[in-house]
Amino acid sequence: MKAIIAGNWKMNKDNGQSRELVLKLMSLVGIDELKNRQVILIPPFTSLSILAELVMNSPIKLGAQNMHWERSGAFTGEVSGVFIKQLGCEYVIIGHSERRHLMGETNKEINRKLKTALDIGLIAILCVGETGAERDAGQTESVIEKQLTQGLEGFENEAHKMIIAYEPVWAIGTGKTATLEQAVEVHKFIRGLLKKPSTIIYGGSVKSDNIDQLMAHEEIQGVLVGGASLDPESFARIIQYQKFLDKPKISDSSD
Ligand code: PEP
Repeated sequence: MKAIIAGNWKMNKDNGQSRELVLKLMSLVGIDELKNRQVILIPPFTSLSILAELVMNSPIKLGAQNMHWERSGAFTGEVSGVFIKQLGCEYVIIGHSERRHLMGETNKEINRKLKTALDIGLIAILCVGETGAERDAGQTESVIEKQLTQGLEGFENEAHKMIIAYEPVWAIGTGKTATLEQAVEVHKFIRGLLKKPSTIIYGGSVKSDNIDQLMAHEEIQGVLVGGASLDPESFARIIQYQKFLDKPKISDSSD
């Protein structure tokens, strides 16, 4: 299985900046460095078309940051999973903590979105994780169990078709990475709840200086990176979590 290295740009990078970031990234990362990893870029919706063109002949895949549970209809301001798939996305983040906590997204809505993503053939990156207060109150496992049980209700046997991202809310954008022990403990807990072997990745202040330690553990099958994916040098270093290989660059592969 390839390790997942996903970069969530959140509401950053306009079209010109997106183009610049991808071109720079492709000049920094060698093709050989991508053999055992799946790089997924998750830009704002507005940059998806541009990125689709730029990564067309490369092993890099695209994802979207959210989608609606209906395929089309009177949902002003929402985005259809069918449309993002048509743009070239293979992945979609569902239930990111910023959507849960800032936009009030519920497990029920997340469940509907996951079902639609499955139906239309998008690979969902389902984010789960506890807040700092929940961890302090000893509720980490119960919170995650509820997010998974309610999120996957009705298609529990299909979680292996998704990627589960353990993202402790207190570690997102704060610079406070979970310790390896904390991350591994929760990964094992999640694995125990799932019916079939599934891909479980970690997110929360992943940086170029902690990626090697995280990826060295077999429980951590990839990472979801926010802030550090906005800088091509640091995201390239994260992709290159093993030593740098002096080989042709991704941008050379389309010739
Ligand atoms: C994220 O947005 O999913 C995330 C993990 O952000 P950061 O890496 O900035 O903590």
